[in-house]
Amino acid sequence: MAVPDFADTAAFPTFAGLPEIVTTPSPPQEHTTSDSSNNQDEDWFLLGQIKDNMTITQPTLVLFDRAGSPFALMFDGLGPGGVDFRARGLRKGSTAVVPRARRTPPKDESKRGFVAVAPEDAGSVRAVPGPLPRVIELGKWLRERRAAGAVGCDGCWREDGEMKKCTACGELQYCGKECQAKAWNDSHKIDCKIIKAIDAIWKHDD
Ligand SMILES: [Zn+2]
Ligand SMILES: [Zn+2]
Repeated sequence: MAVPDFADTAAFPTFAGLPEIVTTPSPPQEHTTSDSSNNQDEDWFLLGQIKDNMTITQPTLVLFDRAGSPFALMFDGLGPGGVDFRARGLRKGSTAVVPRARRTPPKDESKRGFVAVAPEDAGSVRAVPGPLPRVIELGKWLRERRAAGAVGCDGCWREDGEMKKCTACGELQYCGKECQAKAWNDSHKIDCKIIKAIDAIWKHDD
């Protein structure tokens, strides 16, 4: 799967833009969750920068979506220690990626609702170790870069000679150690981890 288009708010909706879980009981002959409006091949991902761990009775995070709106992410059917947030990289300041997230509407109109993750989907929630705006920027950049095909050194832009790829992310490439060290100290030491995580979630097939 190629890196999806981070500029596309259908692929990366806000919390308010998520499809809602239908909570009204359906007639007996129908399935309780309506999938008719959704193409099974179509995927979307809710992105949220983690603000706080608010676990009391079940694992719960408070996040900000790409519009800056806060929402709660709850892991259903699990005890307070049911998700090892630390081991999963789901820590304050990092960005959580929730595939096919649905919004549970509030019972009370003054509230905002939340996103509940079923126990069998808990493992599908992934983390990118960086703030959400940077994750979106690098996601866009990575998609364009792969479409264009990278040529030349990412430090000095020379195109002749053999290039060596960054061994951590496997994405940036350099003509030599000098360019690599400079890029690393400039910004790549932070971006490298983000690129690596994006790549692991949306593996490209080549
Ligand atoms: Zn160079
Ligand atoms: Zn790298």
